[in-house]
Formats: sequence, C-alpha cells, structure tokens
Amino acid sequence: MSEQAVPAVGAGDPARAVEHGARVDLLGFDAEQLGALCAGWGERPFRARQLMRWLHQRGVADPAAMTDLARVFRERLATSATVDPMRVVAEHRSDDGTRKWMFDVGAGEAVETVFIPEAQRGTLCISTQAGCAVGCEFCATGHQGFSRNLTTAQIVGQVWQANHALGAYEAGAISDGPRPISNVVFMGMGEPLQNYAATLSALRVLLDDNAYGLSRRRVTVSTSGVVPMIDRLAADCPVALAVSLHAPDDALRDRLVPLNRKYPLAELMAACRRYLAHAPRDFITFEYVMLDGINDSDAHARALLARVRDVPCKFNLIPFNGFPGSGLRRSPGERVRAFAARLAEANIVVTTRKTRGDDIAAACGQLAGEVQDRTRLAERRRGPQPRVIAVEEIR
Ligand code: SF4
Repeated sequence: MSEQAVPAVGAGDPARAVEHGARVDLLGFDAEQLGALCAGWGERPFRARQLMRWLHQRGVADPAAMTDLARVFRERLATSATVDPMRVVAEHRSDDGTRKWMFDVGAGEAVETVFIPEAQRGTLCISTQAGCAVGCEFCATGHQGFSRNLTTAQIVGQVWQANHALGAYEAGAISDGPRPISNVVFMGMGEPLQNYAATLSALRVLLDDNAYGLSRRRVTVSTSGVVPMIDRLAADCPVALAVSLHAPDDALRDRLVPLNRKYPLAELMAACRRYLAHAPRDFITFEYVMLDGINDSDAHARALLARVRDVPCKFNLIPFNGFPGSGLRRSPGERVRAFAARLAEANIVVTTRKTRGDDIAAACGQLAGEVQDRTRLAERRRGPQPRVIAVEEIR
C-alpha cells in the first residue's frame, strides 16, 4: 500500500493505530494519549508537548516544518502520522462576521460549525455527532436521526480548521496575541454526552496549555440531560454546563425532549446541583426554545421558576427556527419578552438569542439537512441569503 493510501485513524486510539499500522490523525490525541503515542516511538515526554504546540498553537500540519523536532522524529511523523483536515462542503458568511461551515465527516454525512464574533469574545459552536439519537421535537438534527459519532480528531478539527479560516495562525502562535476564538460551545449537532470518550479528549485538548489553553469557564458543554454522564463530566473534566430544558414539567418535556422519559426533571435538577459543586461557574445555563402555544405561557414561566428554585441558573431563550415538517411555530416577540420578564422578576439572568435577516438554515442541523436534499438547496439558494445569529443580553 502506498504511503498516501494508508488510512488515517482519528479516534485517538494509539494502540489500535500502531497495531494496525495505520497513520494516526494527530488532531485526535489529547496530551496523555500523545505522550503514550510518542513513548511508543521511543520519544521522551517533552517531544509530545512540542508536537502539541506545533499542531494546535501554530496550526502546523507538516512535520518538515516543525523545526525544533529531531530529524528522526519528524521522519517518524511523516510516515506514521498525519493531520487530516475535513473537506468543507459549504460555507456561509454574514455581514456581521458570523461564519458557518459544513464539514464532510465521511459516509455522506456532514456537520456544522458556527463562529459568532461579538465585541468582547468570539464563540465557536461545534458538533459532536452527525445527526442525533435524542430526537427533540423542535430540532432539525433530531428529525434526521442518528448517523455517527465524530472522532476526537473531527471534533478538535473543527476548532483547528476554524482557527485557520479565521487567520488565527497567520501571526504565529495563537497564544501570542488576541485570538478570534475565545470561547467554544459544544452546542452544534449531536448530544456530546452520548459521544463521551471523544468529547472528553477534545475538551482536554481545548483546555491544554500546550494546545488551545482555554479556561474551563470559556468552554461549555450543552446536554439534553444525560444524567449519569453529567456526573462523569463533573469528575473527569468540569467545564461550564448548559442544559436544554425547554419545558417545566415532565409531561411536556417527555414530548419535546424524549430523553426525559429516562431521566426526568427531578433527577436532572439533582444532577445540576451536584455538578455545581465542581463547575468552574456558579450557575447552570438553561436553554429554552420558545414555541408558540406550547411552552411559552405565563403559567409555564411560573412553573419553570418553581422547577429551578434550588438550582443557581441563567436562562437562554431561543426563538424557534422552523424547518419542514416540524409543525411548530416561533413564539411572537412580545410573548418572548413577557416570558423573559417573568423570569427576570425572580432575579434570574435571562438572555434571548436574537436573529436577524431572512430565515435560512441557521438552526442546528438545518444546513446539513438541506445539503442532503440538493434540489431543495438549489431552490433556497435562489431565495434569501443566510441569516445572522447574535446574542442579546436583556438583563
Ligand atoms: S436539540 Fe440537541 S439533543 Fe435534542 S435532538 Fe437536537 S442535537 Fe439532539
């Protein structure tokens, strides 16, 4: 088999990669795994740290350009390892700097990554799965069903490729100056805690001082409520936590977020309280998509306040983005404002995700769904241009 034809292994499994003689995708290794890989090649631990800096701080993929590595080590990397960027299937840019990429993750599947620039920060929203098994009623990704877990290399690769696209490496190492990506949120396609091993390794790379060096407060995992894995995350790598709540009672949440049937609200709230003992922030962010006539009444707001009474929290209200076949409508603006005001009266900080421009493919999973249906995509492209996402703090 020629060198080019040897497949890359991106799942961060050095033993398997070495055993099978495959080329390993270096983006798929956290510090401990990279140390083990290098040790297997007879290299000392500091070589792994050097390699990590070349890969993530400087964005270098070619071993020949890693000038402070020993020649023998560079030759080993050239023959046994690779960096395998994902193909960009589609890209949208908006006037305010919001960027959205769709990456090919193999087998005809694609995932989305969104960069949202704001005055004080730049947030990258990344995906962990192609499709999603949770099947939330209001979610375009959920309607697609589950396709596959992303590897660590594909999760980290979204950050690596976005940094390249945003010019972060042009001036040298990303640690040298202001960086476009200051925050990373695991809020794209998929349920991160149902792809736990890959998510955990990716988190460790994001936090590593030899890689992206992000603080735990600037990395957020969003979950629909996989209670046992919330506890695992607290023990393994506590970062900021967001929970997709969307309903104040079990009957409604069983419908909107089917995982609730397995982990009902009382268990979820208890897990949130336990998590806060380890969390880098002293609150949980609850996400709540506003659905006209479904979960947006005053009574719902009051029930929500009772539900979260014992959990220090913030709320992020999300206008629903319609998609074909959802059968749901976005709550009117005045209803969202009244709902937010009701929560704010109880001294809860509320943000409302603000949308501008025409409606196209900005909700989680919608762009990927469109590309799978290329005829409709072509029709839509003759229509309005991509819309913009921003976050408006209202209290
Ligand atoms: S909202 Fe999140 S957990 Fe629910 S189906 Fe969509 S991607 Fe999955």
